[in-house]
Amino acid sequence: MEYDLEAWTTCPYDSAHRVPRSRIQNHIVKCQKKRPPLSICPYNATHRFPESEMKAHCQNCPQKPLEVADNRPGGQITVPKPILQREYLPETDPNHECWDD
Ligand SMILES: [Zn+2]
Ligand SMILES: [Zn+2]
Repeated sequence: MEYDLEAWTTCPYDSAHRVPRSRIQNHIVKCQKKRPPLSICPYNATHRFPESEMKAHCQNCPQKPLEVADNRPGGQITVPKPILQREYLPETDPNHECWDD
């Protein structure tokens, strides 16, 4: 199991800082005050990189939603079938009765 590796992450401001994932947000808030500013990943606020590296990261971010993935192979949008409107006309209502006689 690599659970232990998963539980720790590296501070984006200093690779020598090993921080528990549960505390990375707090750590970043403190660390960013002492470091030159980094660009923040639009998909995860704890992903921070220099401006020059952010574009590459955005293409490969593990938290990038699939919907916006622009290189998804075979990505094809399925169009829902249009509703047959006549099924909803009142004439087909089984409770409709004529009270004229
Ligand atoms: Zn740090
Ligand atoms: Zn990211």
